[in-house]
Amino acid sequence: MSRLAVQGLVAGYGTVRVLHGIDLEVGEGEVVALLGRNGAGKTTTLKASMGLATVFAGTIKLGNTDITREPPYKRAQLGLGYVPEDRRIFPELTVRENLETGRKPGSGKYPSWTIERIYDLMPDLARLERQRGGLLSGGQQQMLTIARTLLGNPDILLMDEPTEGLAPLMVKLIRDLVLEIKRVGVPVLLAEQNLKFTAAVADRGYVLESGSVRVQGAISELVDNAEVKRLLAL
Ligand code: ATP
Repeated sequence: MSRLAVQGLVAGYGTVRVLHGIDLEVGEGEVVALLGRNGAGKTTTLKASMGLATVFAGTIKLGNTDITREPPYKRAQLGLGYVPEDRRIFPELTVRENLETGRKPGSGKYPSWTIERIYDLMPDLARLERQRGGLLSGGQQQMLTIARTLLGNPDILLMDEPTEGLAPLMVKLIRDLVLEIKRVGVPVLLAEQNLKFTAAVADRGYVLESGSVRVQGAISELVDNAEVKRLLAL
């Protein structure tokens, strides 16, 4: 059974339809990529999954539970973890305090994430724990956002372009973090434009254009596919 199953999803904002019937699945232990150019509908797919966009048709299931009509807080309680594109940390709170705000018991399916474990994986955050969040670099804020979401012990993680605008060294750190999340077995749905990063972490992918899935398959197939290169303007 898949952890997240989206079927026939038509979604958008207000009365505007952005997605025109998306089908996708994320299985146990899988890292699945959502690829596509700016405006293809990656963010809207994640937002609709989290309850932050208007759903006109289709269903979204978390395991056996139909969550299509559930509000975002309920989806979070049911195990969806969401890392938004715009890194919503609390700038006035310290790194440690930001992390504390994310703490929540999970379903127990996976070993609990603790602040100590987060600090082992992200020594930068340990070093900066008394620093105010707003003073961190973009990459460090991205780390903090992911770490805070992990502390909510999600059963699946939705990540929106975690590498966007980051320096290569920081991209490597995020890559290692996603690989660690995968090693533990927590499934991930990852929106990305960076095909190289995606190829290093994901098992499968869906390539979107204008709110529809155009190509899907194993990542190893997608990286060599001419149509994918066209869709991503590579
Ligand atoms: P990006 O990398 O820019 O986030 P994306 O693939 O995630 O690209 P979306 O953010 O899902 O794309 O946007 C898909 C379409 O939805 C775009 O045409 C965009 O203009 C439109 N859109 C996004 N947000 C809104 C909104 N709040 N109201 C109306 N239309 C929106």
